[in-house]
Amino acid sequence: MFRVLVADSIESEGIQLLSAAGFELDVRAGLDEAPLCEAIAEADAVLVRSRTRVTARAIEAGKRLRIITRAGIGVDNVDLAAATRRGVVVTNVPDATTTTTAELAVALLMALARRIPQADRNVRSGKYERTKFTGTEICGKTLGVIGFGRIGRIVADRALGLKMRVLAYDPYLPSDGSPMSGVSLQTLEGLLAAADFLTIHTPLTESTRHLLDGTRLAMCKRGVRIVNAARGGIVEEHALAEAIRSGQVAGAALDVTEVEPLQADSELRGLDAVILTPHLGASTEEAQRRVAQDAAAQIVEFARTGAAKSAVNFVSLPEELREELGPYLELAERLGATAGALAPAPIRRVSLRFRGARFEGSTGDRAAAALRASILAGCLRPALQDAVSPVSAPAVARERGIEVLESREPRDRDYMARVSVELTFTDGSSLGLDGTCFGRKPRLVALDGIPLDASLEGELVVTRHSDRPGMVGRIGTLLGERGVNLDRVDVGSPSDGAAERTAAAPGETAPLAVGVLGVSGSIPAGLVEAIRRVDGVRFVAAVRLPR
Ligand code: NAD
Repeated sequence: MFRVLVADSIESEGIQLLSAAGFELDVRAGLDEAPLCEAIAEADAVLVRSRTRVTARAIEAGKRLRIITRAGIGVDNVDLAAATRRGVVVTNVPDATTTTTAELAVALLMALARRIPQADRNVRSGKYERTKFTGTEICGKTLGVIGFGRIGRIVADRALGLKMRVLAYDPYLPSDGSPMSGVSLQTLEGLLAAADFLTIHTPLTESTRHLLDGTRLAMCKRGVRIVNAARGGIVEEHALAEAIRSGQVAGAALDVTEVEPLQADSELRGLDAVILTPHLGASTEEAQRRVAQDAAAQIVEFARTGAAKSAVNFVSLPEELREELGPYLELAERLGATAGALAPAPIRRVSLRFRGARFEGSTGDRAAAALRASILAGCLRPALQDAVSPVSAPAVARERGIEVLESREPRDRDYMARVSVELTFTDGSSLGLDGTCFGRKPRLVALDGIPLDASLEGELVVTRHSDRPGMVGRIGTLLGERGVNLDRVDVGSPSDGAAERTAAAPGETAPLAVGVLGVSGSIPAGLVEAIRRVDGVRFVAAVRLPR
């Protein structure tokens, strides 16, 4: 009998689907680690929302466990690495709340324009001050959509229907051509200068944290109105409060805040021009039903066929091949993540080259397909976070107009197997990474054709710098000044080979070397900027990989 532990409360439609499939159900919402470990021991599948934490200990305790399904998008409450190690598939439900969240953003836009919550408060307080609530029309106004993914596109579509002019900013989309009829892509500066309303639909990443800070808010049209129904932390809250007090921002509607629930003493609570909702984006009956049904349907399909179309940790592969390919799947994901972190512009093309006997024949076809999916997922993750997985990555790349090329050769000159990833960007530049596995350890063995031997784990600082004495020392000093311990240093010099791709910086005579610096602990804010200012450093980026 297939047993499902439902460890968070979900809509009854989901429970009905699981019972109708003839599964044995254990419905116990809100388990802490110890009781979860006990309950999970008998389960083949676990269904959670965001509350229950499926820790490595719980996954170890799940001796029969084969699938963990998260009814929602973010899987940060599931220990993915532990699940992958144990061969447990983790799935999510990425699309069920898209329309619902877009509709909340549109509702907040309207509420901002007509100050509906404020007017409601006024009437309830015994007043009836009509003149105080003169609003603004949205027809003919310009809406700036920041982040043009699934939700941003639906908001844009609805806004066009409301006769707004719609501009979008999304640095991960090719800037030539329009992503949607009637919508034009802009630079962030262009969008801020033109928009009467802004709506945010990006994930929270290093590039979006405090995207709207004091400086950017000052670049907006005076009197702009802002909606954030994406993630807290994208708008810097104190800067927003200041901009509202000064009149630079006429109003803001926030469904999400940096700290949730919002602190009792948050200055936002005292500002009449701010509309606050308690993270309601996904809260409609339809979305909750859809999430529960989709999550349950995934478990039913997996139990019957072994297929998991929304798997976030791996593409389904036969057990023997998974065993053999395991370290290479890990290598592929890490090469992809490194390439994504080093990308200076949106990706136009991904060229993959697989060399070695394991990539021959029909087994080789499956191996290459699995590696391709993991590499693409890694490349797309800086833009899409949990919204992309190895399973969805090939389709997402296609949707985003990224060309994927692939070639295979039966052997490599230096290694048993080599995986090469070459990215071409929309600005015409390119980046090449070569990796292999030493035993089970993923290694970076060339960057832009320059041989090196760097371990692909933990926190890395990757540089391209002039190939002259003292450069690594100077960078190391900056790390030391910030209390960062340097674990490993791998330097590749262009004299080791492939010098043609290592053009010197303007005014430089030395060609460019590659540095891969592994640090223990995490890379502090400001370090990358400080390294960038070192004379002779042409490029620097931080890469965060699992240890
Ligand atoms: P998506 O992955 O489909 O789209 C996100 C888009 O943001 C992508 O096109 C990506 O290229 C773009 N992006 C990434 N970094 C960017 C940057 N620095 N500047 C501009 N654009 C950038 O995601 P989605 O499903 O549309 O969800 C959007 C956001 O809404 C996510 O943060 C998600 O967590 C959030 N969300 C909130 C609720 C809620 O309850 N309020 C519900 C669902 C989703």
